[in-house]
Amino acid sequence: MDLQLMIEELADQDKKDLLVILKRELGETPQLAKVRSTINENQKVLCPHCHTEDIYGHGIYKGRKRYKCKQCGKTFNDFTGTAISGIKKIDKFQEYLELTLESVSIRKAAKRLSVSTNTIFDWRHKILASLSMVNGNSFDGIVECDDKQFKINEKGSRKLDREAYKRPSDRKTKRGISNDKLSVMVATDRKGNPLMKIAKMGRIDSDSVEKTIGSFISPNNILCSDSHPSIILWAKNKELEHHTFVASKQHVKNQCYHVQHVNSLDNRYERWIKPFYGVATKYLSQYLNWFVFLQKIKKSSEPIKEFAKIIMINIKTINQYRNIGKEYEKLNIPHYLRT
Ligand SMILES: [Zn+2]
Repeated sequence: MDLQLMIEELADQDKKDLLVILKRELGETPQLAKVRSTINENQKVLCPHCHTEDIYGHGIYKGRKRYKCKQCGKTFNDFTGTAISGIKKIDKFQEYLELTLESVSIRKAAKRLSVSTNTIFDWRHKILASLSMVNGNSFDGIVECDDKQFKINEKGSRKLDREAYKRPSDRKTKRGISNDKLSVMVATDRKGNPLMKIAKMGRIDSDSVEKTIGSFISPNNILCSDSHPSIILWAKNKELEHHTFVASKQHVKNQCYHVQHVNSLDNRYERWIKPFYGVATKYLSQYLNWFVFLQKIKKSSEPIKEFAKIIMINIKTINQYRNIGKEYEKLNIPHYLRT
């Protein structure tokens, strides 16, 4: 048997599948309970309900360490609040982390792990909620930013509060040029630290720029963007050094000021999202978390271990997961766009 020859004949996707199978066989899939005990050795355990560290050990239940909080009186264990809380098929969930790194579709993942598509859907969104913690960290040096528009998509929405429009002319309200789209702020520094966050329905204003990227920018950062008036106003208020560019006159100032990194980030996002055939707006921020995470993890020598650590460290995940619907409602998407 010539392994090399066999592998060469496989399609790219089959090669990726093979890698996942081999990792499972070799026991390289991370054991989340172990990951958690390593975290506990290095940092204080916090109460997932009130986030204080005023806690004490409260025995062991089903092999998991239990704690009780002196502040709020609630008990919890090492998994409470994390994506793995309440998951029964932990081994398969751990394997699904690998498939998330490979951006495998729900249907394929369900087939490969022999679980239902509903289960994978639930796991996917819990995992992506965990990744919110990587979507937004302090920037270093030059920061390039841009706003990106997304069409409203109610794919998979089970409850439409009216019948779906059959054709665009059925819409009663006239649509504006870009007020019927959702704006997302995209930003990146030059050290591979991207951010993609939903700003608001319609065009961005300086408030939504502040809300999305404001807390990650310091006066030491230098901003590069197109000449969007809201970004200019915001940068002025922040007293940032700001260089603007006109898309049709692509150029570089002083050999280092340009917006090529943020443009390339945009293009990579488009290529990555294409196989998903449109993402429901309700879940857009989840997918943005996913994409940003994949960009950041590229440089890691042990991506799956870092991934497992994020999953176990984020005790706010379940709350964020439960709030997906509420956050979506807050976008105040006009009804006539909800097709
Ligand atoms: Zn507490």
